[in-house]
Order: sequence, then structure tokens, then C-alpha cells
Amino acid sequence: MEIFLFIVAHWYLSLFAQSFFHHRYSAHQMFTMPKWVEKFFFVFSFVAQGSSYMSPKVYGALHRLHHIHADKEEDPHSPKFSSNFVKLMVKTYHKFAGIQSGEIKVDDAISQNLPDWKWFDKMAGSLIVKILWGLFYVYFYYLFATEWWMYLFIPAHIVMGPIHGTVVNWFAHKIGYTNYKVEDTSKNLMPFDIFMLGEGYHNNHHAQGNKANFARKWYEIDPIYPIIRLMDFVGLIKLNPVAISKG
Ligand SMILES: [Zn+2]
Ligand SMILES: [Zn+2]
Repeated sequence: MEIFLFIVAHWYLSLFAQSFFHHRYSAHQMFTMPKWVEKFFFVFSFVAQGSSYMSPKVYGALHRLHHIHADKEEDPHSPKFSSNFVKLMVKTYHKFAGIQSGEIKVDDAISQNLPDWKWFDKMAGSLIVKILWGLFYVYFYYLFATEWWMYLFIPAHIVMGPIHGTVVNWFAHKIGYTNYKVEDTSKNLMPFDIFMLGEGYHNNHHAQGNKANFARKWYEIDPIYPIIRLMDFVGLIKLNPVAISKG
């Protein structure tokens, strides 16, 4: 039971961090937040993503490139240019690392207003910290696993962030339905997106990239959107008017 809860908690907390902080805040600036709230979400992302912590700054730049060049050769991760999802994952990793190290240059216009906390990103993304997280996952399983096969889930914890990225970047550009005719291959993965916290409505998102609510039809529910509205209501964040405007 503990293992099951650990997998579910890690899946959803890591996904929430990526969708709320990295995607909707950093890359798309759907809302602003005071510096202390931003710092809180840096730390939250570190705890939630663990060994697969991603710099919100690098993620933001990479993701903006995806929207600008969707499914073209310059797209950092288009299924059109990778023969399977493992290759897409590896290619994305190299693009991410290249931007992080400065080997891949990104235009100033692309990296405008990205959240930046240099020493924290360096610490959280360092190899030694990743190894410590890995040891923590193994220790947790050592304490609570009741069957040998449960240990097979440990690799999923280690690459939790990239798994979520691949579900969207590969599968939501391959499988699903569309609400909008767009220039790229983006799809909505499923009508009830309980597994991807709204990120599955990728065709809706590609069609209207600045809208905070990823759901469009009456049966589509984006579970993160009400949380964003609540945080805006209590004053922790400030929604950009464009992100909630109709049309
Ligand atoms: Zn996409
Ligand atoms: Zn996006």
C-alpha cells in the first residue's frame, strides 16, 4: 500500500510542478507571482521532481522553441523527427542539457522573463543530488516493498519528469482527437484527463497557447485550472488577463 501511494503521490506532485510552474508559469507566463512564491515553487519542484528536477529556466526556453517550431526541424522534440519515443526522450535530454550548459544558444527574445535561481538550479540538477534522490527511492522501497517486482518501479521514479514530458511530446502528438485545426500534429489525448492534470489537452493548448484553462468542451476538465483561479483569488499569483480572456 505504501508503495502504491508513493507512486501515485510522486506521479501527481511531479506533474503538478511541471504543469503549473514550468509550463504555465515559466514558459507561458499565464500568471505572475511574487519572488517568495516563485522561490517556494522552485523548492516544491525540487522535492516533487526529485532526481528528475528540471531547471524552470531551461524548460521554459526549450518549451517556447517547441511552440514556435512545432513539428518543424528546429522543434526540440517532434515525433516527426524521431523514430520512437525513447529516441525522442534522449534527443530532448540532449537539447535540454545543451541549453543548460550554454552549448546551444537561445535568442534573448526566447529567454525573456524566465525564472532564474542559478545556485539552486545548479545544486538541484547536480549529479550527486540526483544520486542521493535515487538512493532515497531505493531506501523507501527497501522499507516498504512487499514483493520483489515492486522494485521494477524505481526507474520510473528516477525519470518521472521526462516520462510526463514524453507522454505529451510523443503521444499527444500521435494519438487522440482534435478540437482545433492547427499547423502541427498536436492532439487531445483523452476526453477526461485525470492522468495528466489537463496537459493531455495538447491540441487545445497548441491552438491557444496563452490560455490558462486547457479544457474547452463541456466534458473536458483541467484539474489545475481551478487551483490557479483559487491562487489568483487569494493573491498568491496574478493571472495575466490574456490567459482568462474569451476567444
Ligand atoms: Zn506540443
Ligand atoms: Zn505550452
